[in-house]
Amino acid sequence: SSFAPPAPRRRRAARAAAMSAEAAPGVAPAEEARGAAVLAEMVEEAAVWCAVHGLVVGDRADPRSGTVPGVGLVHAPFSLLPARFPSSFWKQACELAPIFNELVDRVSLDGEFLQAALSRTKQVDEFTARLLEIHEKMMAINKKEDIRLGLHRSDYMLDSETNSLLQIELNTISSSFPGLGSLVSELHRTLLNHYGKVLGLDSKRIPRNWAATQFAEALGKAWTEYNNDSAVVLMVVQPEERNMYDQYWLVNHLKESYGVTTIRKTLAQVEAEGQVLTDGTLVIDGRAVAVVYFRAGYAPTDYPSEAEWRARLLMEQSSAIKCPSISYHLVGTKKIQQELAKPNVLERFLDNKEDIAKLRKSFAGLWSLDNEEIVKSAIEKPDLFVLKPQREGGGNNIYGHDLRDMLIKLQKEQGESLAAYILMQRIFPKASLTPLVRGGDCFEDLTISELGIYGAYLRNKDKVILNNQSGYLMRTKVSSSNEGGVAAGFAVLDSILLT
Ligand code: ADP
Ligand code: MG
Ligand code: MG
Repeated sequence: SSFAPPAPRRRRAARAAAMSAEAAPGVAPAEEARGAAVLAEMVEEAAVWCAVHGLVVGDRADPRSGTVPGVGLVHAPFSLLPARFPSSFWKQACELAPIFNELVDRVSLDGEFLQAALSRTKQVDEFTARLLEIHEKMMAINKKEDIRLGLHRSDYMLDSETNSLLQIELNTISSSFPGLGSLVSELHRTLLNHYGKVLGLDSKRIPRNWAATQFAEALGKAWTEYNNDSAVVLMVVQPEERNMYDQYWLVNHLKESYGVTTIRKTLAQVEAEGQVLTDGTLVIDGRAVAVVYFRAGYAPTDYPSEAEWRARLLMEQSSAIKCPSISYHLVGTKKIQQELAKPNVLERFLDNKEDIAKLRKSFAGLWSLDNEEIVKSAIEKPDLFVLKPQREGGGNNIYGHDLRDMLIKLQKEQGESLAAYILMQRIFPKASLTPLVRGGDCFEDLTISELGIYGAYLRNKDKVILNNQSGYLMRTKVSSSNEGGVAAGFAVLDSILLT
């Protein structure tokens, strides 16, 4: 195995120290060997658990793994032990979920606000402009979405400087890993049931995670509200998807618990096979669609031609429930996050003062680039900031030297190019040594973690049917990496152990 015992000079912390037999410096060689043997046993048990419970992704090494189900599977990358997380911050993050759900819904109804807040971004960001164009068309025909479904994930990091829980972003489209995330919690529970005594860790301190069944429940209830027994759920997917099993977990729950059939189509297929009937019904392949669930469509690369944009517009014009609608999608942009963080903006959308205070407490510093003073500070101290374009899916943000160079370049360009970005306070979570498992091998590294809290929201006109916190996802990444995508290969799936 490629697991290397940590060098003695390395800083020890939380999770690695829990591998107690090899924890303390100066332990006897026999004990160290026993520690390594326990570790190897755990890694193998964990990998087997993943295989027999579907905690799997497509393997990059197999070219067919992104298109053909059941071919070229490998266990998803995971941390061997759950990350310690203070109960108070866990509770705080859970409480925020229904408030953010409601906020998204309220903001989505204010089309003028969305258009105005993104009007400068639109000048310089073609992708945002295309989304806004669809939104504008819907405003022009006064399109109303009576049934609204949100499946969100609000991501947080614990800032070690201020000892506070701060939001990284709120995802309103294609929030990933409800399926695999809930499995990782189960994996860790199983491992602690077997090894917890040796490690001194109690499996009961891992919160239950029902993200997959709760998201399926929300989709199932939305389907019921649509009220057409023969209608299906349409999952809009990318042509190649190595994270398909995360999606198939939802498909499976939907079928087993609600008897609802899901069809998977790419945007190009929707454009080729789809139509909207005069009564608004979206029909694909001859089947009426009750709910459109997007697991694609959030990135410019999802729209390689006009055909994909036509598909997006077609679905938006239909009476199908869109998860998300174009409005919900726009509410999740970084620019809107920054606008909502301005003084007195939350008050426009929410009434409850306590809720507003809770949300605000979780906001990190966020600035638009027309704030010259902040741009100056960021050029002076780039490591204290993150520069973000209006993009999703990881790997798009700019840090450090690149951030400084980019700001200087953008300033020189004069024009509106600064409006494509926002600046955010950089959050610094405490790093700890963690055993990570990838491709059957265990590595130990210094890591930081990001906690995502899922939220499900469903309403039909005035009736709120669901407004819940719906499980969680911990993602852990090597602390030297700026970005945290699991699918992108930067991070591993994780769960939490409450402290
Ligand atoms: P995306 O929509 O592409 O996921 P995010 O805003 O989540 O964009 O940024 C991607 C990653 O960058 C996050 O998962 C996190 O690891 C890192 N990141 C983002 N914002 C910050 C921040 N303010 N401080 C520290 N790291 C950040
Ligand atoms: Mg995102
Ligand atoms: Mg993110």
